Amino acid sequence: MDPPNTVICMECAGVAHRSSYAPYQGFEPGDVVAYACEDCNHRLDLVLEPEEEPTDGAYG
Ligand SMILES: [Zn+2]
Repeated sequence: MDPPNTVICMECAGVAHRSSYAPYQGFEPGDVVAYACEDCNHRLDLVLEPEEEPTDGAYG
């Protein structure tokens, strides 16, 4: 998983920079990554979406 270094602030549409550092093993799906807006200091949390898992033939 490789979250973006910056996201767009929901409050002021400014640039929010990632304030969470990657864990040793890297980010994993479900991890919450924190961002802080440089303009309004608003904090945003981005939850990493799990990647599509291969199905195990469990249909029907
Ligand atoms: Zn902002």
